[in-house]
Amino acid sequence: MDRRDILKGLGLGAAVGAWGIARGADDAVASGYAQATKGLPSLKITDVKAILTAPQGIRLCVVKVQTSEPGLYGLGCATFNQRPLPVAVAVDEYLKPFAVGRDVDNIEDMWQNAYTSSYWRNGPVLNNALSGLDQALWDIKGKRANMPVYQLLGGKCRFAVDCYTHCSGRDLKQIEQSVRRAMERGYRHIRIQRGGYGSPHLTKQAHYKEAGFASASDSTMETGPYVRGTLEMFEHIRSTCGDAVELLHDIHERIPPIEAINLIKRLEPYHPFFIEDPFSPEDNGYFRLLRQQTSVPIAMGELYNNPHEWVGLMSERLIDFIRVHISQIGGLSVARKIAALGEWFNVRSAWHGPGDVSPVGHAANAHLDLAIWNFGIQESVHFSDKTQEVFSGCPTVKEGYMYVNEAPGFGVDIDEKLAAKFPLPDHPGYWSPVRRPDGTAVRP
Ligand code: MG
Repeated sequence: MDRRDILKGLGLGAAVGAWGIARGADDAVASGYAQATKGLPSLKITDVKAILTAPQGIRLCVVKVQTSEPGLYGLGCATFNQRPLPVAVAVDEYLKPFAVGRDVDNIEDMWQNAYTSSYWRNGPVLNNALSGLDQALWDIKGKRANMPVYQLLGGKCRFAVDCYTHCSGRDLKQIEQSVRRAMERGYRHIRIQRGGYGSPHLTKQAHYKEAGFASASDSTMETGPYVRGTLEMFEHIRSTCGDAVELLHDIHERIPPIEAINLIKRLEPYHPFFIEDPFSPEDNGYFRLLRQQTSVPIAMGELYNNPHEWVGLMSERLIDFIRVHISQIGGLSVARKIAALGEWFNVRSAWHGPGDVSPVGHAANAHLDLAIWNFGIQESVHFSDKTQEVFSGCPTVKEGYMYVNEAPGFGVDIDEKLAAKFPLPDHPGYWSPVRRPDGTAVRP
C-alpha cells in the first residue's frame, strides 16, 4: 500500500496534503485538502422561496430551502405580520440568488455573508428574510444528522418548555374567570390584561373624534385610567385567585416612562413574575432609572432588531428576561448567541411567541428553550385545526408545557397546496393607531 493511501485510511488528509507538497505534487495537495475537510457529502442549495399563508387569518411567511439531495429541504420562519410582502421580495429576489449554489452545511458563514450582503442591515424586513434562510438551514442540518435541532444545540436542559398563556377581559369578573380556566388547564404562569393594550375601554373621552381629527376607527387610551385599572386588576386577581399562580403583564410601551416606573413600583405587593415592555425601544435609557427604583422583574425586547438595543441592557443587568422575536433579529443563529450572552448575566429567555410566529418559528423557539440553561418562560399559542392541517408536526401544549416532536430538524412540515388555499387577507394588516384623548399618537 502506498504511504499516501495509509494516511488517507487514517483520515489524515492534511498530512497527505503536506506530504504531497513535499513531493511537489499539486494533485496530492488538492486531494489532501479535500480529505482534511471530508465529512458529510457536500450538498448545495438549489432553491430558496417564500411561502405566504394565513390559515388563522394571520399573515405567516415561511421560507423553504431546497438542496441538491432529492427530497431534502428545510423550513424557516420569516413572519412579519405587518409587512409580509417586502419580506417575500427580499427572500425571492435577493436571498435566493445569493444562496443558490452555496454549501448547505456552513450556516454561520452563510449568515455572516447574507447579513452584510445588503451592506445596510439590522432592519425588520431583511432580518426576517435572513431568519427564514437561517432556520431552514438548521432544519436541514438536523435532518442530515437525523436529530432534532435541540440535540444539535447541546441536548435537553429540561423535559419540556414551561409556558404562559394570555388571559384578558373587559371587566374584572371576566379576567378572573379567564384566569381560573387557564389554571384548570394546568397553566402556572398567566398574563393578565384588562381589555386591549392600554385598556382603551377605560377611557371614554375621545375628544379628537368629536373635533373631526384623525379616524373614527382609531382607539383611545389615557394613562390615568389605564394605571388605576391595572392596579385594580392585580388586586382583584391576587385576592380571588391566590398567590400560587404567577402573574405577568404587558404595559406595551403605552404610557410615559416615568408613569411606567410609578406603576411598576405600585405593583410590587402583587409580586408579578415579570412586567413586559415598560418603555418603547426609543426609551432604552430609562431602564437604569427603573432598576434604581424597583426590583420587580422586567421583560423587554419584542421590538428589538439591532444588537445595540439588547447587548447593553443584558450586560449591565438592567432587564431580567430578553423577549426578542427570533425572526425579527435574524434567526436561530442570533438567538442562541443572545441566550449565551444572557447566561453570563443571568438574564433569562422569554422569546416572543404570539400568533404572528409560524409553527416553524414556534418550533425553533421551543428547540432553543429546551437546550439553553437560562431559559425563563415561553409565550404559548393555540394552533387552530386549519393551521395544524397546513403545518404538520406543530409543537403541542399540555398542562402548560410545550412539547416538540422528535422528528429530525424542527419536526414541522408544510402542505404547500393547502397553504395556497389560505391567501393573505386583503387588509394590509397595519398596527392600529392608538391616541390620547387630544389625538396624540401613542407608541406601541
Ligand atoms: Mg408584548
